Amino acid sequence: MSRAVRPGERRGYFGPYGGQFVPETLMAPLAELAAAWRKARRDPEFQREFRGYLRDLVGRPTPLYFARRLSAAIGGARIFLKREDLCHTGAHKINNSLGQILLARRMGKRRVIAETGAGQHGVATAAMAAAFEMECVIYMGRVDMERQALNVYRMREFGAEVVPVTAGQQTLKEAISEAMRDWVTNVRTTHYVLGTVFGAYPYPDLVRDFQSVIGREARRQCFKQAGRLPDRVVACVGGGSNAMGLFSGFLEDPGVALIGVEAGGRRIAPGEHAARFAGGKLGVLQGARTLVLQDEEGQILPTHSVSAGLDYAAVGPEHVWLRDQGRATYHFVTDEEAVNAFDGLCRLEGILPALESAHAVAYVLREGSKWKPEDVVIVNLSGRGDKDLQLVMDWKARHARSGEASSS
Ligand SMILES: *Cc1c(COP(=O)(O)O)cnc(C)c1O
Repeated sequence: MSRAVRPGERRGYFGPYGGQFVPETLMAPLAELAAAWRKARRDPEFQREFRGYLRDLVGRPTPLYFARRLSAAIGGARIFLKREDLCHTGAHKINNSLGQILLARRMGKRRVIAETGAGQHGVATAAMAAAFEMECVIYMGRVDMERQALNVYRMREFGAEVVPVTAGQQTLKEAISEAMRDWVTNVRTTHYVLGTVFGAYPYPDLVRDFQSVIGREARRQCFKQAGRLPDRVVACVGGGSNAMGLFSGFLEDPGVALIGVEAGGRRIAPGEHAARFAGGKLGVLQGARTLVLQDEEGQILPTHSVSAGLDYAAVGPEHVWLRDQGRATYHFVTDEEAVNAFDGLCRLEGILPALESAHAVAYVLREGSKWKPEDVVIVNLSGRGDKDLQLVMDWKARHARSGEASSS
């Protein structure tokens, strides 16, 4: 399922990236988690259980859908959408939440905590905590709680306690720090369900493993429906879990281009975007050495994206390693391109994408005309966009106003 540590590789590292940069008190729980996960991964009983719930509770396999009108509109390639938007609770996040909660249960933990930005990871984790009878506490920045009030209500309906975090920018980064603090204090009873391929080892590996079902399904479905491997697979990159899940199915196929799309925000300038590959420098944030948006003194820069799920200062370490090796490439699209792609997919296919996923669609809309008509491209539709309708409405209203202002 996952690649073994290769000769010369240090466990927990992807080349020079990754590692375990955490307080001493977290070293033992991380080791305990890594050991439990390595054991569960080899255990057919655990795998059977995980697969069973993925099928009956999450709704897998998700379809690979040929987007006929989108393909025609681009005029360049055959575009297939991997429909993670059809997962229970509306995004790929639940593959990982389910996996980690089954693992926590095996470890005898009765309490789970999680951080959440937009709320998707919090909702998925709260739902799975309810299903497996676990106490659940979700840390969320106060600003994000206001922006995503409905998701806060969803989590509470699932019986979770949602704790507002009021430090710093009051968003995702602070919520992660607060969750780590809780974990240090309550580690005997508590598992920390981290939401993406980020943080200290084993999280980047473990989360990729739980998300790798996306790539395995997509590969099989592509053979069946297109008769061959894709030429390109495209996914948006926040922390990087939906992308790693998709990429992992094609890592050993050198003919398949792996393409990550980041949030270019308003423009590439400090504080205006979240494109770590465009403006990041090597640093350490929240447990891992990776690319981080920071200033000259190493202070973490504020970030901006129209989509909360991509709005984070650092990126999963494995992505940086894939970039260094030339195996994957990373690009960005702006807020405006993403909102246009959101509209575009609605009009062309009757599918409402999450604003995060709309970044991947926007890349295809921009670049697709350069591709050959017979090319096969898979786009990961990481989530559905119902959660973003209000945001898009507000964005358009603001944009129309500022458009008028600048033209007068
Ligand atoms: C959280 C989220 C993302 C970004 O997270 P990754 O770990 O980069 O996948 C992307 N799309 C959706 C729908 C999300 O909810």
